[in-house]
Amino acid sequence: MTQVKRNPSVVIIGAGMTGILMDIKLRQAGITDIVVLEKKDCVGGTWRENTYPGAACDVPAHMYTYSFEPNPNWSRFFAHGPEIKQYFEHVADKYDVKRDIRFNEAVTDAQYANGKWTVKTSQQQTYIADFIVCATGILHHPQFPDIPGLKDFKGTTFHTAQWNHNVDISASTRVGVIGTGSTAAQAIPELIKTGAKVSVFQRTPQWLMHLPDFTFSKTSRKLMARFPIITKIHRNMGKFFLEHFFTKAVTGHFIQKHALNFLCKANLRLSIKDKTLREKLRPHYQVGCKRVIINTTFYKGIQKPNAELITEGIERITETGIITKDGKHHELDVLVLSTGFNAFNFMRPMNLIGRNNLHIDKAWAHKIKAYRSMLLSDYPNFFLMLGPNTPIGNFSVIAMSEVQTDYVIKLIDKWREHEFDEFEAKQQAIDDFNAYVKEGLKGTSWVGGCQSWYLDADGDPILWPYTWQRWVDEMKQPQMEHLNTRSF
Ligand code: NAP
Repeated sequence: MTQVKRNPSVVIIGAGMTGILMDIKLRQAGITDIVVLEKKDCVGGTWRENTYPGAACDVPAHMYTYSFEPNPNWSRFFAHGPEIKQYFEHVADKYDVKRDIRFNEAVTDAQYANGKWTVKTSQQQTYIADFIVCATGILHHPQFPDIPGLKDFKGTTFHTAQWNHNVDISASTRVGVIGTGSTAAQAIPELIKTGAKVSVFQRTPQWLMHLPDFTFSKTSRKLMARFPIITKIHRNMGKFFLEHFFTKAVTGHFIQKHALNFLCKANLRLSIKDKTLREKLRPHYQVGCKRVIINTTFYKGIQKPNAELITEGIERITETGIITKDGKHHELDVLVLSTGFNAFNFMRPMNLIGRNNLHIDKAWAHKIKAYRSMLLSDYPNFFLMLGPNTPIGNFSVIAMSEVQTDYVIKLIDKWREHEFDEFEAKQQAIDDFNAYVKEGLKGTSWVGGCQSWYLDADGDPILWPYTWQRWVDEMKQPQMEHLNTRSF
């Protein structure tokens, strides 16, 4: 007798880019018992959080778009934050994702026992589910610098991911920015434009690549709406560039690596006129070791008369500013911390508890690792989206999430067909996957002599070291021999 396909209950954690996608794909697969738990009051994830001036995506807009929902209306080649957030709002509305979302409900605990997950939230609600999909994103825990005196500062301090829009920054304001990563490179030129005196405290210089940014004219947008093939061409060109140039350049492919090297060095040489400033901005590590910053505004901004690059190193923060290691006191009114994120929290601080009361902090005490970036042992029927060793270098995370979503649905489908009641990765499969990835990491730029958010406590990058296509191919079908399955 053929059994009826089961309709599982699924809890998705997070209503950012991945959570929205997951909800849409599960519904399209015929799964209707879905709850999306979102800690804030609207969708958008990182694009809701990061509202700093100049926030933009350095992946071409037509590539930073769901494949099934092209957007002929992108106003520019590299879309800015508010427009991206609007796009996610639009998709969530169009596909009625919000019917499944519980806003302002942060997951505090999730525990597995006897084939079910029990999920508890900040609203004292409890949800029982067959599956959990953790779509909590990668860079969402602001990293605050451990600099003496930080709390003593009497002016206004905020992290770029928590931008304080109530602070009026004008020509009479003295702003200090700590950090010179991708975020700072976008925010600093905007601060400089206000006429404020902007002091940039750089600990380590970064490699920047210049890629022209431009707006799409009304006519070209109309043409894209009329002829979807044009949007598709834009998307494919972006994908081709990221896949065959960028990703390969940082994973040890000779020609691309040297081309990227040349382009970044030429950008520094051609953009910075003053030799002393140029040398201060010159990194002494391999191009691509830290995430290459794609940016056209930072080098221009930092040469303006109201900008100052300070490289002496921070001694401590005082009530009125920053003292650098050369003894100089820099008076400030506003202190902006562009000091990045803790990339290793993933779903934490949630208490994720698997089989036998195993807390995720204990499971990951020695090393953060997952089978194919997504599956853990002792955490049955659990998926971690964009987990460790997803190809999160300079590629579109949307494309990554789409590949992972298909993989999730294939596994859930096996459950629906009664092939098993629970599955989890075998510990051996996790270790083998980790060793396989580690082997590839040796040839990448990420181990090229720098410190970055890519590196775990052992100095191993949490990235995927092989080609995009290899990852896609390997994610096509779940290899069931790498999983433990049980039927009750
Ligand atoms: P980040 O790249 O990690 O940069 C943090 C900066 O803060 C670095 O310059 C770091 O210096 C500095 N810093 C940290 N602690 C410090 C301390 N105690 N004293 C002095 N300096 C300190 O962070 P991010 O700029 O926020 O970017 C993080 C990631 O977000 C990017 O790599 C990217 O993946 C993503 N992002 C993407 C876009 C986009 O366009 N798609 C835009 C923004 C961000 P050191 O280098 O010396 O550590």
